[in-house]
Amino acid sequence: MTVEIICVGTELLLGNIVNTNAAFLAERCAYLGLTCYYQSVVGDNGARLSDTIKTALSRADLILLSGGLGPTEDDLTKETVASVMGLSLVEDPASKEHILQFFKTRNREIADNNWKQAMIPAGSRALLNANGTAPGIIIEKDGKTLILLPGPPGELRPMFLEQVEPYLLEKRQAAIYSQMVKMCGIGESDAETQILDLTSSENPTVATYAKTGEVHIRVTAFAENEDAAAKLVKPMVNKLKSRFGSKIYTTDPDVTLEQSIVELLAGNHMSVTCAESCTGGMIAARLVNVPGASAVLNEAFVTYSNKAKRTYLDVKKSTLKKYGAVSEQTAMEMARGGCISTKADACIAVTGIAGPDGGTDEKPVGLVYIGCSVAGKTSVRECRFTGNRQKIRESACAEALNMLRTGILEYLSQTKFT
Ligand code: ATP
Repeated sequence: MTVEIICVGTELLLGNIVNTNAAFLAERCAYLGLTCYYQSVVGDNGARLSDTIKTALSRADLILLSGGLGPTEDDLTKETVASVMGLSLVEDPASKEHILQFFKTRNREIADNNWKQAMIPAGSRALLNANGTAPGIIIEKDGKTLILLPGPPGELRPMFLEQVEPYLLEKRQAAIYSQMVKMCGIGESDAETQILDLTSSENPTVATYAKTGEVHIRVTAFAENEDAAAKLVKPMVNKLKSRFGSKIYTTDPDVTLEQSIVELLAGNHMSVTCAESCTGGMIAARLVNVPGASAVLNEAFVTYSNKAKRTYLDVKKSTLKKYGAVSEQTAMEMARGGCISTKADACIAVTGIAGPDGGTDEKPVGLVYIGCSVAGKTSVRECRFTGNRQKIRESACAEALNMLRTGILEYLSQTKFT
């Protein structure tokens, strides 16, 4: 089934608001296995909207429209769609009642034009808007389906997830099942090259998404029921597991990298500390974001100055003088010092130049050393990140978490066999 997305609103054309609805709808359509060839943005103008709808009808089976369902004069999506489809507008009693209750519970007066929102094209189906007054609308006519959704993302998203997706799955007589293979320590292009033969698969589909320091691969299948779809997904996920091995940290879409690390540490009764310079607490913050992090993280350091590195991590004055704060040797001593001063089993340490100032030919902006100490074994990685200050710090944080995870896994694999 082909789908086309039309977002209505002059504000979108002027750049006053970012078209996040298009991104959301496109991503959900891809997830649902719908093919989208075109997206359009059109202002609040009846003639141009009408042309856009006619063009979409000529090349897609399903058309999703967002915006222009409000009560004011310039909200004309519903009227324009009805006119293109040759349908009159009729009052929908359930939508009328919803509008009445919506204003009543908020103790607000209903303006005359609010009743406009209770009118829907004859023969169409209204979707209850739990977060606003404009109902969504599904129109099926002449082999085409048009779905009208309210513009505010807080109204559109839940309506799409809770009502439109089940409708589309039922229409396709299909159940969907998907797993997310999440990896770190590998670049997107490298990962894609390794699965070139798998991405052409149609059921299940295999799609990659890049995130700072991570690559996620979504495997999705359709079948007559969820169990059958899961059976199609499983062998593909197993193939990915055998190709990427320990680079995969989870196949659960809700688990984050930091969560997998906290679980790994907690499951093995290990503790961790952080010794951060240029990341300034970002690593600790990500770990603390995980409920239950207190079981593995007792304390952490932001040691920005040389003095702090010496005081809290016992980095030698001579090391700082000879090699500098941004150096392999300093990262090594930070990681070791963090473990010793907090009696933690592991310490992840970062020192680098996030810029925009402070770089030299020898030590440019983006140069970051990451030290990782696990059970007395310390290693250091030299990284060269690009981008602005924030991007460099985020990349360093992601790489540090990856290194910490790898260090713990290595340690655990050794202790298992000795
Ligand atoms: P309302 O009943 O609130 O008027 P509506 O369906 O008429 O809803 P619009 O008037 O087109 O929707 O947009 C209302 C608000 O929703 C916009 O001001 C904007 O904040 C948000 N919005 C609309 N379209 C989009 C979009 N494509 N992406 C993100 N936000 C959007």
